[in-house]
Amino acid sequence: MPLYENQNLKIYNSLTGEKEVFQSITPGYVGMYVCGPTVYSNVHLGNCRTFISFDLVFRYLKHLGYKVRYVRNITDAGHLENDAEEGEDRIAKKARLEELEPMEIVQMYTVDFHNTLQKFNNIAPSIEPTATGHIVEQIEFIKEIINNGFAYEAQGSVYFDVLKYNETNHYGTLSKRKLEDMIANTRELTAQSDKKNPQDFALWKKAEPQHIMRWPSPWGVGFPGWHLECSVMSTKYLGERFDIHGGGMDLKFPHHECEIAQGKAGTGHDPVNYWMHANMLTLNGKKMAKSTGNNILPEEIFSGDNNILSKAYHPSVTRFFMLQANYRSILDFSDDALQASEKGFFRLMEAIALLPNLSTSEPSSFDISKWKQDCYDAMNDDFNSPVLIAHLFEAVKFINSVATNQATISETDKATLEKTLHDFTFEVLGLVPVMNGSTSENGKDNKLSQVIDLLITLRKKARDDKDFALSDQIRDELARMGIELKDGKDGTTFSIK
Ligand code: AMP
Ligand code: ZN
Repeated sequence: MPLYENQNLKIYNSLTGEKEVFQSITPGYVGMYVCGPTVYSNVHLGNCRTFISFDLVFRYLKHLGYKVRYVRNITDAGHLENDAEEGEDRIAKKARLEELEPMEIVQMYTVDFHNTLQKFNNIAPSIEPTATGHIVEQIEFIKEIINNGFAYEAQGSVYFDVLKYNETNHYGTLSKRKLEDMIANTRELTAQSDKKNPQDFALWKKAEPQHIMRWPSPWGVGFPGWHLECSVMSTKYLGERFDIHGGGMDLKFPHHECEIAQGKAGTGHDPVNYWMHANMLTLNGKKMAKSTGNNILPEEIFSGDNNILSKAYHPSVTRFFMLQANYRSILDFSDDALQASEKGFFRLMEAIALLPNLSTSEPSSFDISKWKQDCYDAMNDDFNSPVLIAHLFEAVKFINSVATNQATISETDKATLEKTLHDFTFEVLGLVPVMNGSTSENGKDNKLSQVIDLLITLRKKARDDKDFALSDQIRDELARMGIELKDGKDGTTFSIK
């Protein structure tokens, strides 16, 4: 019997504002769509938090035995500079500044995105469709919306008629806004706009001569509106109605509100059963964002190369730091917080490594089956990873007391504890078993650590002697064995994959 039959998973649904028992449309199967990045610059740590949050969701659903089809798009056209749908296409602008083809920009940052998420041990989605790969489908969807009377053509562009839609539907169900309030709060239309109302949003935009990302359509040469791609690609791969749609909190309005309106206008019904929104990572109390420069890049954390960091941190430590917060809470980034997480992370890893060596005796002085269900209950409660981690630390404490003969563990409980700890730590939380690579307490009794430390010393000597061929050889051959060296301010550390 699959696990999900016994576990009562609840998901906080942004649409209803309540935790609801999760029931998938087709028993045993889950369709999940998450808005992916606009690939015009390196992903920052804030972006990564959102994708790690949904990786946790993906992993836990899989762990429960669901067959999950996880679709996450790449936005490679149509996302303009501001939410008011004005300005240049973000990718085209970057291409102009860098003197590259837009598709070179797309390729460069898609590769960066994949590499970065792989370092965080995110599982790749099942399908990763691109906006430019689905222009034909987007045009067909617009025709559908026009036929149903919810969109109009104006000067080579097509706009969604929000007022018309609101006559029979409610525009604002997700963001809990009222159209009257939105109207009261908006300024007059600018003279150049072809929109009937400022609330209307573009499904298709006419391309001005300088706009280089352009495609033919029944309405002339242009490009799709940003909100449309997600409606079209989710529907294409998951059906007109699917289980879960996710994204960062900042996408709730207008992006996701528009998706709901497009879905209803095109197909006649709500596209999504459970809307999930991941909260923001902040830096100095302000949202990390590309546009303001208030952000930190994952590579800076892995190398320690940023003034706000005291050292380098392993991707898995960084992932652990993020998972110590609930995905619906704001999380503020700081070096202190990361250091505290690192301590906890190594304590967890050391206990897991210690567990197989524990001697067993009857009876156990710890109720393993209750503890195991506590772990599930935490995850069943809307993927509450910090509570799960607190339970993992109860196990750490117990393991350490068995190791110092202050507690006992039976043979069968030991097997259950080992399996459950592995399942939650590695499979569900997606951490990787990294040991403290610096020459601290743990390293001392570890022969492998000592050998690697020796190689680090020899490599440093080679570099000091300007023998870069040798220093690179040491690094590369270790990397081939899955041992990664990281150069930080306080010297070189390593991690074992
Ligand atoms: P973008 O490429 O700007 O569309 O962003 C990609 C994803 O990252 C979206 O789901 C955003 O909501 C999310 N995101 C952007 N900034 C942050 C942040 N500071 N913290 C968490 N998620 C973010
Ligand atoms: Zn989207």
